[in-house]
Amino acid sequence: MREITISSSRRVEFIDITSKVRKIVEEEGVREGICLIYCPHTTAGLTINENADPDVVEDIKSTLGKLIPSGAGYSHIEGNADAHIKSSIIGNSVELIISNGNLMLGTWQGIFFCEFDGPRTRRVWIKIK
Ligand code: ZN
Repeated sequence: MREITISSSRRVEFIDITSKVRKIVEEEGVREGICLIYCPHTTAGLTINENADPDVVEDIKSTLGKLIPSGAGYSHIEGNADAHIKSSIIGNSVELIISNGNLMLGTWQGIFFCEFDGPRTRRVWIKIK
């Protein structure tokens, strides 16, 4: 297993980790396989979406914020219930195909670590099989 450390700088932030994951796939030297990327946090997640136009990520963040506002009378006393809900909706893992040594992503796709309760130092686990 490999690990990536991520430092977020805002409460809600999407961080493109595609190049870090590609580097790990290269280092592991697997030609054909599966790359599982997992987020071991309850107020963050992982998603794949467009990394060409940064407005796409801005729209996802702002729409999630409208659907799941902070401080909307939640039961969880820690005050970050919105971040927990966003984490569950976005999901904690993504799985990608490795073919001919390449991480198979569409032309406009990137892998994003989704911070919902930053700033914090976070971890992402990667298993290549
Ligand atoms: Zn909490």
